Amino acid sequence: MLKRRNFLALSGGIVASVLTPGQSWGNDARALKEPGSFIGPQWPKSVLRNVNAEKKPPTQNFDFHPDNSIVDNIASVPLNVLDQIFPDIVITDDEIRIFKKTLARFSRLQKYIGYGNFNVIGWDQSLRFARNYQQIGKFSRAELEFIEKLFAIDANSLGFYGDKVVSRLSSSIVKKDIRKIPRTGHYLFRGDAFDTYLRIRKDIGDSVVLTSGIRSVVKQIYLFLNKAAEVDGNLSLASYSLAPPGHSYHAVGDFDVGKRNFGAKNFTEEFAQTDEFKRLSDLGYLVIRYPQNNSFGVRYEPWHIKVV
Ligand SMILES: [Zn+2]
Repeated sequence: MLKRRNFLALSGGIVASVLTPGQSWGNDARALKEPGSFIGPQWPKSVLRNVNAEKKPPTQNFDFHPDNSIVDNIASVPLNVLDQIFPDIVITDDEIRIFKKTLARFSRLQKYIGYGNFNVIGWDQSLRFARNYQQIGKFSRAELEFIEKLFAIDANSLGFYGDKVVSRLSSSIVKKDIRKIPRTGHYLFRGDAFDTYLRIRKDIGDSVVLTSGIRSVVKQIYLFLNKAAEVDGNLSLASYSLAPPGHSYHAVGDFDVGKRNFGAKNFTEEFAQTDEFKRLSDLGYLVIRYPQNNSFGVRYEPWHIKVV
């Protein structure tokens, strides 16, 4: 079992470059590493109607990065301190089977409705799709309970001290409030977020790309489960690099940028070596949510644009 203290020793504090893909829970997590696997099959009409969908799945000029490299700009207690205060919260053996089934179902949902739609889909809508399309399959009662429990978890007990910004599992994103950003698979909220992104592109150029925009509660649950799968079901450890469901500011406006064609490295400290980063920084776009050396020991994550 991977514990926080082993993890710290391994990582030297840099998380993004250390997590080993698909470490324990097999094929589902691994399959998600393939960008191609995000692209859905035929698009059912109801998807187009319901989700403000793209006309077709994007196939080229797509600035994909593997989602598993995503890490949040979050407030968590330093791992060495954390270990002295809290025991790790790890998914129990009894729950592992449900955990795997839930993760697989989310994966099928994403594949079915498409990567872009999945970024903004609500929970009720997800349930509807799962119920209506056998390629996804209805969530079982145990899976529903597992997700509700995960959403309700006290983040502090995981060592996560950020705010809960989405209070209800069922809260959904209003379609008229968002805009699709071409060739990224991501959306931004109209208004401040979108305007900031346009200004960045105008100031710096199109070598800066959106790497993670709006993430609905559903998307954040999926990312969090994926992250948990990478670290042997250790939710405390997962919450060190990814905000627990309901706690990501990506649900309400913040977004991440990177350098075009830089892939997963956009979510590592290598991004801070790029010209794009230097210009973002010089122009004052990189206002971090939690200052360096704050009492929560938040890591510096230079790719996150604070909007809210
Ligand atoms: Zn971010």
